[in-house]
Amino acid sequence: MDKLTAQKRHDNMAAIRSKDTKPELIVRRGLWKRGFRYRLNHKRLPGHPDLVLRKYRTCIFVNGCFWHGHYVDIQSTIENSACCKIPKTNHEFWVSKIKRNKERDREEQRLLAEMGWHCITVWECELKPQKREETLDSIAFTLNHIWMQDHGIKAKNNKPYPHKEDRELQAMVAEDKVD
Ligand SMILES: [Zn+2]
Repeated sequence: MDKLTAQKRHDNMAAIRSKDTKPELIVRRGLWKRGFRYRLNHKRLPGHPDLVLRKYRTCIFVNGCFWHGHYVDIQSTIENSACCKIPKTNHEFWVSKIKRNKERDREEQRLLAEMGWHCITVWECELKPQKREETLDSIAFTLNHIWMQDHGIKAKNNKPYPHKEDRELQAMVAEDKVD
């Protein structure tokens, strides 16, 4: 095998790998596997949410930690974070760019909330292999919680992870065919 071919194959493999581990795909697959159905990149909704779950009246945004300034404070007290390392070169440019992105995200979510949509933001760093399943379980839990609240079913507690009673309620929700 010549060098070019080997390089090309490497590039192809890398492309496939990066496509497979794309954060949106992880969320899509994880939620699909858990029985949730959704639409992608809804063009008519503000911010073109990555996933839209009509039954749950919920939009999901899967955010890259750098571009969306994870742990960055919009009021500028925190310009940098472990998740969003602003380059030293053109520092001011990047700080204002990330801030604008965050302001836009906030505005889009405000508009969606006005239209009656719930928004869930999932961060790239929460989808690392060690945290992935926990994150996906937590999204599933939140979606079921939203559904129950919208349908006037009182959950017994507000804990972030399912308790026994909540699992029973979730099972009831899962059996319910109402859309
Ligand atoms: Zn992050």
